[in-house]
Amino acid sequence: MQNFHTTVKEATYLTGLLVKLTLNTPKGFSFTAGQYIEFDIGKEPRAYSIISAPFESTDSLSFLVALNPAGGLGTNFIQTLRQGVPVTFRGPFGFITTQGRSGPLYFIAHGIGVAPFISMISDLLHKGYQGPITLLLGIGSEEQNYFRQTYTHWVQTFFQFTFILVSSRPEPKFIGFRGRVTTYLKQATDLLPQATYFVSGSQDMKSEVRNLLLSAGIPSSNIQLEAFL
Ligand SMILES: Cc1cc2nc3c(=O)[nH]c(=O)nc-3n(C[C@H](O)[C@H](O)[C@H](O)COP(=O)(O)OP(=O)(O)OC[C@H]3O[C@@H](n4cnc5c(N)ncnc54)[C@H](O)[C@@H]3O)c2cc1C
Repeated sequence: MQNFHTTVKEATYLTGLLVKLTLNTPKGFSFTAGQYIEFDIGKEPRAYSIISAPFESTDSLSFLVALNPAGGLGTNFIQTLRQGVPVTFRGPFGFITTQGRSGPLYFIAHGIGVAPFISMISDLLHKGYQGPITLLLGIGSEEQNYFRQTYTHWVQTFFQFTFILVSSRPEPKFIGFRGRVTTYLKQATDLLPQATYFVSGSQDMKSEVRNLLLSAGIPSSNIQLEAFL
């Protein structure tokens, strides 16, 4: 896989632990919505999903990074990034794709696991996808609802987009489903067998969701798991 050399366009701290990173798009780099890149930062690489859709990425590539409060290889590396800093990455990686799919699409994510779906849904809406698109997002508290303005815009602009927010640690004023994504799925009555399901989050979350979908009669060929850790 090719190495690409570029520079940081912007590293903005949205909160103390949340960084929006923008890189200048290196010459010759292209990707499909939902893919990720890896920074080579020592003994293990660290992967980050491109949140911008391909049509938005001619000049720059965007990422959203939730820093590990305890520190870590990726966290320490991201914290060194400032405008103009040179970086090298490999990619693009990832096989999860909506290409060739028609009919209802159901995206299920937890926390920052939603990152690849931002690019994918944005791409679909931009291309005028006709089928229903649902995003079921699980968060702990409201501060993990990283893309709230994007969802509001999509709900207001695209009739086929449905957003379901589920919180396991809701504040009193929270409007949405209280519990976990899996709690929501256990009582859901709209899980169509012909829909395609995309799942992104921790390994435990992904395998629990997959089992729930299989027991709800969804064929395994209609379930795609993102490589997200
Ligand atoms: C496909 C993919 C896409 C991702 N996209 C995003 C994103 O868009 N935004 C975001 O905030 N995070 C993303 N992550 C998670 C990110 O790569 C880091 O794993 C996470 O931020 C952990 O941070 P850290 O390195 O600071 O912590 P650490 O404590 O150093 O790592 C956390 C744990 O993950 C393990 N780990 C992580 N990556 C690897 C690897 N490549 N090989 C072996 N072990 C590994 C470490 O060994 C450790 O156990 C993604 C992960 C994957 C796999």
